[in-house]
Amino acid sequence: MSLHFEELIQQIHSKKAELVAVSKTRSVEEILSLYKMGQRHFGENRVQELRQKHPLLPNDIHWHLIGHLQSNKVKYIAPYIHLIHSVDSLSLLEEINKQGAKHNRIIPFLFQLKVAEEFTKFGLSMEACTAIIESDKFKNMKNVLPSGIMGMGTFTSDLNQISEEFKLLKKYFTELKETFFPLAEDFKEISMGMSGDYELALEEGSTLVRIGSLIFNNL
Ligand SMILES: *Cc1c(COP(=O)(O)O)cnc(C)c1O
Repeated sequence: MSLHFEELIQQIHSKKAELVAVSKTRSVEEILSLYKMGQRHFGENRVQELRQKHPLLPNDIHWHLIGHLQSNKVKYIAPYIHLIHSVDSLSLLEEINKQGAKHNRIIPFLFQLKVAEEFTKFGLSMEACTAIIESDKFKNMKNVLPSGIMGMGTFTSDLNQISEEFKLLKKYFTELKETFFPLAEDFKEISMGMSGDYELALEEGSTLVRIGSLIFNNL
């Protein structure tokens, strides 16, 4: 299958969404070739890998951390990370806030919510997410910026199931927005959709699609 990158971008932008090009396991050269086509948002799932690539690539790349994040690694990305998609505990958020303060930054992040079937996947239940937001600790954080939610669909060929999960993520987003962030303009992102299901995600209201293999396997 061949991919026309410009068409993909148009398809995504026509739905008022943005592309995060998932560059994990891809070389600096591969990333640069996409950069030269105008791509600026890139996503990595491992801090170690991001630490290696970051100094070798242009400064105006917006780096997204999309994979599970351990608290002890936050300090390495705090100076420059554009958006952390994978906040799944209060203690992780405390560390991001602490590192944000250290670097004089307000670090944007998403709550990772779990809607997929597989029990191995990281992510918060709505109850757990709500408990974080209602906690005094969270209310006192000055160096993090709640910017929306992230989620993954179940790894299945059942498109109906994936659609239902994306619908649920959208519903959760709307509940959180209306309950806790009605006036917060920055709370606006729904990060959902990957190579195999990004079109479904766009249909259901995704604002950030995280696409790796579809792009890089066709460069
Ligand atoms: C790898 C990865 C993606 C992209 O997956 P593709 O199927 O290659 O598009 C998206 N989100 C997360 C969290 C990932 O780890």
